Amino acid sequence: MDVLEKAVEGKRLTEAEVLALFDLPLPELAAAAHEVRLQKTDPQVVTYLIDRNINYTNVCTVGCAFCAFYRTRRQKDAYTLSYEEIARKVEELYRVGGKRILMQGGVNPDLPLEWYVDLLRYLKGRFPDLRIDAFSPEEILGLERLTGLRAEEVLERLKEAGLDGMPGAGAEILVDEVRKKAAPARIKTEDWYRIVDAAQSLGLYTLASMVIGFGEGAKERTLHLLGLRAQQDRALERYGNGFAAFALWTLQVEHTRLKGKAPGATAHEYLKTLAIARLVLDNFAHLQASWPTLGFKVAQTALYYGADDFGSTMLEENVVSAAGGHGRTHATVREIVRHIVDAGFKPAERDPLYRILRYPDPGAILAEAEERELPLA
Ligand code: SF4
Repeated sequence: MDVLEKAVEGKRLTEAEVLALFDLPLPELAAAAHEVRLQKTDPQVVTYLIDRNINYTNVCTVGCAFCAFYRTRRQKDAYTLSYEEIARKVEELYRVGGKRILMQGGVNPDLPLEWYVDLLRYLKGRFPDLRIDAFSPEEILGLERLTGLRAEEVLERLKEAGLDGMPGAGAEILVDEVRKKAAPARIKTEDWYRIVDAAQSLGLYTLASMVIGFGEGAKERTLHLLGLRAQQDRALERYGNGFAAFALWTLQVEHTRLKGKAPGATAHEYLKTLAIARLVLDNFAHLQASWPTLGFKVAQTALYYGADDFGSTMLEENVVSAAGGHGRTHATVREIVRHIVDAGFKPAERDPLYRILRYPDPGAILAEAEERELPLA
């Protein structure tokens, strides 16, 4: 049986078959990936989320060469937001109808575990219905080292204080040879899976992600996807709680130390890898299209290459944009709805767990003035 037919029939692909996908023409991959997407999720609907990114500190001791966001604690523009500043950002999110924050920062050695615990309590006290997905595996590893506690213990304390989930950042390519070249001090593959597994064991939300463009080949991309698929199997079987979705981004190097050293990835490579991900990740329902790295047009195209979700408004994004990005740090609801409709789908607002909250009336949203575009704190 042809490898694409096998994937469309829902049969699991072997490592050799996944590798072979990288040699197939893009239109054939797209057709098969879209077919699988139509089987797995509502064919008419493309979902989106209203949320906000908050980068609570840019102080970081890891120093990844692909990161233009971090600062050392002595640099003039190093910052850590106060609880009140973070609360003001949440208020802005509530004004545009969102109730979820994605909060991440650097590995800041000046912030003890109590700082995080008190922050979560403070935010949940002020905003009881706020959903907080925060602190990537790298930040949790930093807290393990700072406190001597295990990831499970750190995460339990954070969960008790109000943590709902963990963002998918820090995965990049989960093959250590690739990681070492781009960022020798970056969290290792084994630790990334260990900490994600700990989060999943506690019932926390997690997202699987991938960043292409470090100079990795088909072999490393294959290993990354197979590793995520294996973790999803494990987590669903043991905890009944796996990754909520998969998101793919392209590496942005413009303002980073990797400029001229890493090739980045074209839109063609992005779409090809996305389509392959849809065929490989047979235990994932949802794949996100990414507009911040390659723009809205490529994100619309991605809806025919396996993606069923347009990501989120983000409202404020500092990490991708600092590295280069597409020049946009947020999207309005109006823009997202318009792009979904223009691509031929019905928009649906969802929560982070992909439960549909409402089917907005695109006509009404598109007729609205831009009052949802608030000045940001
Ligand atoms: S990517 Fe994260 S861990 Fe790496 S330097 Fe930037 S903030 Fe630090």
